[in-house]
Amino acid sequence: MSTEKHRFATQAVHAGASPDPATGARVQPIYFTNGFVFESTEQAADIFAMRRTGFSYSRGSNPTVAALERRVTGLEGGKAGVAVASGQSAVLMVMMTLMRSGDAYVSSKRLFGGSLGLMRRLEGRYDLKPQFTEDFTPEAFEAQITQETKAIFCESIVNPCASVVDLAGIADVARRHKLPLVVDNTLASPALIRPIEYGADIVIHSTSKFLGGSGLTIGGMIVDAGKFDWAAQGSRYNLINDPWPDYEGIVLSEKFPETCFASACKLFGLRDLGPGLSPMNAFLTLTGIETLPLRMERHCSNAKIVAAFLKDHPAVAWVSYPALPGQEGEAMAARYVPQGPGSIFTFALKGGEAAARTVIESLELISHLTNIGEIKSLAIHPSSTTHRQLQSHEKAAAMVGPEAVRLSVGLENVEDLIADLEQALARVS
Ligand SMILES: *Cc1c(COP(=O)(O)O)cnc(C)c1O
Repeated sequence: MSTEKHRFATQAVHAGASPDPATGARVQPIYFTNGFVFESTEQAADIFAMRRTGFSYSRGSNPTVAALERRVTGLEGGKAGVAVASGQSAVLMVMMTLMRSGDAYVSSKRLFGGSLGLMRRLEGRYDLKPQFTEDFTPEAFEAQITQETKAIFCESIVNPCASVVDLAGIADVARRHKLPLVVDNTLASPALIRPIEYGADIVIHSTSKFLGGSGLTIGGMIVDAGKFDWAAQGSRYNLINDPWPDYEGIVLSEKFPETCFASACKLFGLRDLGPGLSPMNAFLTLTGIETLPLRMERHCSNAKIVAAFLKDHPAVAWVSYPALPGQEGEAMAARYVPQGPGSIFTFALKGGEAAARTVIESLELISHLTNIGEIKSLAIHPSSTTHRQLQSHEKAAAMVGPEAVRLSVGLENVEDLIADLEQALARVS
């Protein structure tokens, strides 16, 4: 059954998985097997050489993992997807597939802390050079582009300040310079923003967050929009346009014109590098996605109420949540995320770092842990944990100075969340 014609919530429940043809099982079976028996030596050779599709070994492909890939690809409106072991390995795999040592990419410098750490190490050890922008404007991205630039990278909603990025404007810059636009869509999820509709070429997710939803399991996804004209770029993207000698000289952009980036991620990223996703984790994530549209509505409505409460509290210095009236970035949020810019944001205490730590330690219902996008509400002190590697001026720019607390607002009754915050804030008022 093709689900392409269906609306979003229907796709969240149905895309990519149908009743098991072997048994009629309605729920996607978990195929716990490493290998798949071949029908003949000829079929085995064909699958290895990419002459035909089929399952061979679960590092590279597995039916349960493939169902997850189809579902996320459907929700994002892409052409093909690659599931990987974590969001971190999704970012790594995209960079390694696009670039060789000496290449560069333009990126916002306000990003998830783990992505910034990875970028720093890839630069130091493999000479993949980040060209960081001054801010989120399309002009700032354009200003950094050089001959060496191979891609543009940004987050749709920025972790953790909740700023909403002008994807259409940045996609326009990417198109004019014939560069693929890579968007980490973790904080929005496809329920709030579908970056491909604004011109993104590659979408990345940490499925550990909103997609899985319950904080049960780590995973990542790469979605290929199938729109970028790789073939016109020749050896600038050599894995995609040059022959693979050990695959009888296949050229991915010729053999898979609409899915060649995803194919390169599978061949190089999964077969060679190896961070495949376990079928169990794929199953848990696939199940989580079924409630994504419902959850995102409640995440957003709770977050708006919590942010408004904090903004008016006398112990709070500022709240970074662009759905609040008068906030920087309000117009961008209204344009891209009318439902609200997700449920992850920062706020700062007038009492500085000591007050921020006291508030976090005093929370009872809201858990002090490092994850986001879970059903349960969470809090952390980013300056000493997730964003600790930033310099002080970078922390201030990213709204994660020592006085800041990051919240991930969950699905509890919002009155209970406010009561918890109120009692914690009373200790520093
Ligand atoms: C969490 C996160 C990642 C990394 O994902 P993991 O699944 O934790 O490896 C990447 N990007 C963003 C925006 C994230 O929030």
